[in-house]
Amino acid sequence: MIYFTRLDLIFRQLATPSIRLRLRDIYIATKPLAFQKAEPILRSPTLQKNNRTAEGHRPYMNAMRAINELGAYFYREGGALQGHAQQQQQQQQQQPSDLMLVITGADLCSDAADSGWASAGTPNDGCSYASIRGQSFVGGACRVDRRRGRRLNVAVVEDGGYFDGVLVSAHELGHLLGAVHDGAWPLSGILGPGGRGCSPASGQLMAAAGPGAGGNGGGGFRKGAKKVGGSSAFTWSHCTAEQLAYYARLPVAMCLYHRPPFM
Ligand SMILES: [Zn+2]
Repeated sequence: MIYFTRLDLIFRQLATPSIRLRLRDIYIATKPLAFQKAEPILRSPTLQKNNRTAEGHRPYMNAMRAINELGAYFYREGGALQGHAQQQQQQQQQQPSDLMLVITGADLCSDAADSGWASAGTPNDGCSYASIRGQSFVGGACRVDRRRGRRLNVAVVEDGGYFDGVLVSAHELGHLLGAVHDGAWPLSGILGPGGRGCSPASGQLMAAAGPGAGGNGGGGFRKGAKKVGGSSAFTWSHCTAEQLAYYARLPVAMCLYHRPPFM
């Protein structure tokens, strides 16, 4: 709950649009999914060395594969998850969750060739760096990809167990809600103001440069790409605020609107 409260506070900084996060359900996995057990092919000597020698090293997990397969899992299991929610919240019977944030203890990694939505059809079976800390689909909120059978409203974030994933979670939810990185062009599928009017070096929440940032929808977040700990790390750029406001007015974003007390 502390994690979620901190996340909500980050979004409360925004005056326009006004965004409140409401925690709907918490699920704790009791057994790993198949892709969690399949270790990625480590294409870099550094990762291979860490994997062998770093004490207590967490298992690597390909971030693109994680959101693709989690999206497919939630698509398949949507009925079951929804059924559980129904027992607790009769009012929301027919509504799947707007956003799904998956927090993992694995060490997320990525292949140099992985680049967002474009890599959805590739196996995402290898990794060449592990500086990535989160992954999501830009503008994935409310979206379902029925052709491929997966939900796109999924973000995965790594957390070492001490709330270090909160800022990354805010960043990934920003992506899901339609924002690209500061400095990036708008996505062709979303358009809107994009992030060109803001500096990627500002260190603000959406400043990180990740794989796919330039074009096709991968919302990666890499540690070290921003000044962690600086006051700007907790703030949204005006570009992000404009993009979130733009996205919130699109027809696809209607699922995000809830009447109080669900705000
Ligand atoms: Zn990102």
